[in-house]
Amino acid sequence: MDQAVVRPIPAANTADVVTFPQTPAIGEELLKTVLDNMSLGVLLFDSETRLIFCNKRYLEMYGLPAEMVRPGRYLRDLLLLRAQTGTMSEDPDDYTARLRNGLATAASFTHTVQLDDGRAFTVVNKPVEGGGWLATHEDITERKRSDTRIAHMARHDALTDLPNRVLLHERLEHELKRVKRGECLAVLCLDLDHFKSINDALGHAIGDQLLKLAAERLRGATREPDTVARMGGDEFAIVMTQMQQPTDAAQLAKRIRESLVRPFHIEGHTIIIDVSIGISVAPFDAAETDALMRNADMALYGAKGDGRGVYRFFEPEMNTRMKARRELEMDLRKALVGKEFELHYQPLVNLESNEVNAFEALLRWNHPRRGLISPADFIPVAEETGLIVPLGEWVLKAACYEAVEWPDGIKVAVNLSPTQLNNRNLLSVVSGALAETGMPAHKLQLEITETVLLHNTFATLQTLHELRKLGVQIALDDFGTGYSSLSYLRSFPFDKIKIDRSFIQDLGKGSEPLAIVHAVANLAKSLNMTSTAEGVETAQQKDMLQSLGCTEMQGYLFSKARPAADIRQFFKSGVPKAVDAAE
Ligand code: C2E
Ligand code: MG
Ligand code: MG
Repeated sequence: MDQAVVRPIPAANTADVVTFPQTPAIGEELLKTVLDNMSLGVLLFDSETRLIFCNKRYLEMYGLPAEMVRPGRYLRDLLLLRAQTGTMSEDPDDYTARLRNGLATAASFTHTVQLDDGRAFTVVNKPVEGGGWLATHEDITERKRSDTRIAHMARHDALTDLPNRVLLHERLEHELKRVKRGECLAVLCLDLDHFKSINDALGHAIGDQLLKLAAERLRGATREPDTVARMGGDEFAIVMTQMQQPTDAAQLAKRIRESLVRPFHIEGHTIIIDVSIGISVAPFDAAETDALMRNADMALYGAKGDGRGVYRFFEPEMNTRMKARRELEMDLRKALVGKEFELHYQPLVNLESNEVNAFEALLRWNHPRRGLISPADFIPVAEETGLIVPLGEWVLKAACYEAVEWPDGIKVAVNLSPTQLNNRNLLSVVSGALAETGMPAHKLQLEITETVLLHNTFATLQTLHELRKLGVQIALDDFGTGYSSLSYLRSFPFDKIKIDRSFIQDLGKGSEPLAIVHAVANLAKSLNMTSTAEGVETAQQKDMLQSLGCTEMQGYLFSKARPAADIRQFFKSGVPKAVDAAE
């Protein structure tokens, strides 16, 4: 080994020159201490394969007694000793031949030793001057373990330890090769219904436990060769192999559903969920990984549209429908910039005085090719894509710009979608619209539907209260279409309940709708709220509503929603203009 020499750093100024003491030559004892304390096992052999030196660490690594590994012993003896003690599985002569060949043909000979106890060492042999070689043994057990861990993490979901999207794709790709040889397989895409509301209501910790338990049940419902993966959130996917016929996938879907609908018991809560499943089968629906996944996803979308808690097989028409939807989505993005939206206004009439109290702003989309599109068709798409946020903001401003010109006391009602209400900016958007247009807050009513309150989070209620504080009124729209409507009335002091059109339509049919409308009108009265009947189309309905105690009505009987210019005209003429219902 070279003597270590520290050279003085040359300095520009001689006055700064520092003289370092010469480092003494490292003596044999010192060198041995250094080598014995290294983390590597080190051995030095001469050209005759005799051991010149071996450090302590090597003996520890292989559990060898020092007296058996003395300088002068041959490599072969050492290897035999290791074979006896169980740390050498290869034949010593074979190994020696490989080593000789390796050292003769390359700059070094490297290999890995895997011990029965799980430890792994990397051995590097390098020739040294004079014909011998230096061997270093490095314990790589921890590094290997963490490499394995990292490789596992890259292909598994941390929460459930199920394969993730990456591994699912790999397995699917692999299994599809067998499809080419005549087998069939199915991909099932799963989505837990109502998971989001459970997560919101009971917290993420319980949501996480629910996902873990659901993952276990999914594993239990499938067979050994199937792959169950978590794709993220509450989405799972299954690759089902070794199928006899496509209907096997339907059987699996049924089994999965049966296992998931059983109540979960977590920290004192009994939780009930359901699942929607989309299925695509190779080679019938597609034979490539991406297309199969896409088709299963499309079938899942169809299953959710069918009311959730069901499974659906992929059908080619789904593709057409999805394309139409995607087109609508793209057109919708352009529509706001292209000024294709317009607001129409439908009057709300006071049932005692027969006077117009307010107008509801209803969005109309004038599509350049398809003509007028109903909000029922595009609002859900705007909701899903988040476009409802800028669109809703536009509606709010446009309605305020219009209504500020209306006579005092005439309010404008604007519909808010759940996404808008969950948006943190809503309060500033509303107050901004009022400030920009100069509209007094008391002229604005906001209509929300029960779905907003389904995820009855603290933040939502707080936003509603803050809007109220601005002086804006809040109405509960489409009342009665949700499944626990009455309880919502307790969660927030609404200014108005709008009874859904379906009850008004059924007024003449039996006593039940009558009793419901009567009860809601009474409840509204006692809670000091306005009760508005939606969709009033006949004079008979109007008379009934009056006798049942409703205080307001909206419907074609009085007028359909009309363009802003008509409303301005309406105020100018001063006479309520009855519009023909057949229009
Ligand atoms: P909605 O808020 O319940 O509005 C009332 C709907 O009932 C309107 O449908 C209206 O035209 C219709 N309608 C009113 N009177 C009658 C009647 O006598 N008979 C019948 N058959 N229908 C009547 P429209 O304009 O198609 O709107 C549908 C839904 O779209 C609205 O229901 C509302 O939920 C949503 N929507 C409309 N504009 C907006 C908007 O600007 N933002 C949001 N988020 N949603 C909107
Ligand atoms: Mg409404
Ligand atoms: Mg409504």
